[in-house]
Amino acid sequence: MKKEFLNEKIETMSTEELRPIQEEKFLKQIEYVWEKSAFYQKKFKEHGIERGDIRGLEDLYKLPFTEKDELRDSQEVHPPLGFHCVAPMDDIIRIHSSSGTTGVPTFVGITRHDRKVWTEITARSLFAKGVRPTDVVIHAVGLTFFVGGLPVKDAIEHIGAAFVPIGTGASDRVVVTTKWLGGNLLHCTPSYAQYLADYIRKKQNMEPAELGFEKLVVGAEPGGGVPAIKKRLQEDYQAIVSEGMGNSDAAPIIFGECPAGQGMHFCAQEYIFPELIDPDSGDLIEMKDGAEGELVYTLIDRECCPVVRFRTRDRITVFTGPCECGRTSFRIRCIGRTDDMLILLGVNVFPSAIKDIITSFRPRTTGDMIVLLDKPGPKVEPPLKIQAEYSPDEKDLETLKKELEGILREKLVFRADVELVPEGTLPRFEMKAKLIRKLYEGE
Ligand SMILES: [Zn+2]
Repeated sequence: MKKEFLNEKIETMSTEELRPIQEEKFLKQIEYVWEKSAFYQKKFKEHGIERGDIRGLEDLYKLPFTEKDELRDSQEVHPPLGFHCVAPMDDIIRIHSSSGTTGVPTFVGITRHDRKVWTEITARSLFAKGVRPTDVVIHAVGLTFFVGGLPVKDAIEHIGAAFVPIGTGASDRVVVTTKWLGGNLLHCTPSYAQYLADYIRKKQNMEPAELGFEKLVVGAEPGGGVPAIKKRLQEDYQAIVSEGMGNSDAAPIIFGECPAGQGMHFCAQEYIFPELIDPDSGDLIEMKDGAEGELVYTLIDRECCPVVRFRTRDRITVFTGPCECGRTSFRIRCIGRTDDMLILLGVNVFPSAIKDIITSFRPRTTGDMIVLLDKPGPKVEPPLKIQAEYSPDEKDLETLKKELEGILREKLVFRADVELVPEGTLPRFEMKAKLIRKLYEGE
């Protein structure tokens, strides 16, 4: 494998070499936070932490976690951006917001310096995912609000590739533009890539592979790392599929999957300090090969909205073995988000794992499915109700239902009640897929 990096020095540095760089930045950032952030001054004091107590990264665990709800409350009581936002509006050059919330979104401001940092991390992640200066990037993600929009534009231009902003809801334009410009790389969510494949088969009467994409760079939701979905996309487009993951409060893309395809590399080496914790007890878990837990971020180079020990709610598995791409940072797979997790008789089940199994039954199923919840989770009384679409060619629905329920029980250890519905019944998503339908909210 060809070893290529955006920033070879930092991306191939050993953990021991990197540590002093992180340490220095961390101490500087903690001083900055003590100095400027009314939010953290109050929070640290409440926790019995005095200025000067934190002498290095080895003391980080003494600091309290920051929850997303606290940031939301902080914005509510101190509009417009919250107590945790420490930069004056004069220095703020752009304001994004988190996606997926109802009502007033939570806003995230960035300064010029923050933009530079975001661009470097995001570009490093995208480069790991295979973006190169020669690429013509068809960007089929919305450019508004969401951190997967404009910051990705900055990063792709930074790499030197040609950025073609199309957005969502314009599939015909994706087809025409890709053919005309010779677009070779599609950047979108895995849900959109699946949607587009179905769309062009039906509406344009052509195969997705005929679009000519060599690379599919996906992110913003689990999917690119879900084996059956990745396989489906690779087959549909005859392209290399790589995934990434970020966080709107930390950086747009923080992890990028290299061509070795063994998980996503951490790409924010000197900007974010990651920790792994047990989501229930909050105890630290060692970042060793095979470890599982929730990711926690401490930003160590942020001006506008610094966060310390921010709980991401992302559940991950860690890989630390050497990677043939030459990058030395650890890799992860995202198992799902704590917010989506269901618990059936003590067993944790993530909807993306169910989707993986339903998709692996293609072409007998279409791969589209939704979990139906009568009552708020995460605890659910079995059987778990799931609707899955069958293909028009599938005649023996009784056997298919039995097989699906059997394999869900075998692989994910829970009892399911699968209702098979005709192709086209379930909603398609052009941004992030909703895999759970809450019946109790009358949706
Ligand atoms: Zn690698």
